[in-house]
Amino acid sequence: MTEGMFKDTMVNMNWTEIKSYSDTNALVLIPLGVIEEHGPHLCLGTDIYIAHIQSIFIKKLLEQEGQRVVIAPPFYWGVCQATGSFIGSFRIKKETARDLLYDIIRSLIEFGFKNIYGINAHGDIEHSVAMIDVFKKISEDYSINCRYTFYKDVMHHYGLNGTEAFICPITPQKIKINTSEYQDVHAGDIETAIMHQFYPDLTDINKAASLPPVSLDNEKIMTWLYGGHTESLSPGGYLGSPADFGTVEVLKHLNNLASGISTAIIESMSTE
Ligand SMILES: [Zn+2]
Repeated sequence: MTEGMFKDTMVNMNWTEIKSYSDTNALVLIPLGVIEEHGPHLCLGTDIYIAHIQSIFIKKLLEQEGQRVVIAPPFYWGVCQATGSFIGSFRIKKETARDLLYDIIRSLIEFGFKNIYGINAHGDIEHSVAMIDVFKKISEDYSINCRYTFYKDVMHHYGLNGTEAFICPITPQKIKINTSEYQDVHAGDIETAIMHQFYPDLTDINKAASLPPVSLDNEKIMTWLYGGHTESLSPGGYLGSPADFGTVEVLKHLNNLASGISTAIIESMSTE
């Protein structure tokens, strides 16, 4: 993956290739993320790099099912809420993120694409709210299949039940892929392990190995998620245990995650 987040995306294609995808009704995956601080050991692009890696894994599984798939330019100007006060977290207004993503998806529709799925790797509440708003508005404004892939166990917090035409509901991962006792809320063991596997030059594993775990009780995690308190709750800007990255089974994790999402995508298309 040394070619970066544009590898295998539309960014690296010419327009006639894009046309051949839309002419054959290819499905579009849009990697969604932010540019945000990820502790002293990971780069700001961690979430969008991971969303892109996930998209590549999902694409492969969908193609094995006979589906043509193309990856859109990664969208990395989403909303930083939890870490918004930290240096390195670009503070894009919700309206800006919404308008920009809307214009990008509208362009894809104008190119002729009819099945568009958002693949998100950034957990902030306000970010998902903004992304969901866009997929909802697109499916109201255009008669195409445009869905945000979203986990069933959290969607009720957003007033969703998974039957919405703009949501592709995903079953949460059930297998165990790490042994850390500290949940990877932000820049912890799992994100560190994925980045180390695909972008070793961008990952400071010596630093990661030296970092003490940071864990918060549920109430404090909510305070973290609502934003503005990152520095007092976690001065290093991470939440979890980066040092445990070596216990993560990265490929098992990514294959399992991609399998859950690709299955959900195929199911949602059959209900069209
Ligand atoms: Zn992250």
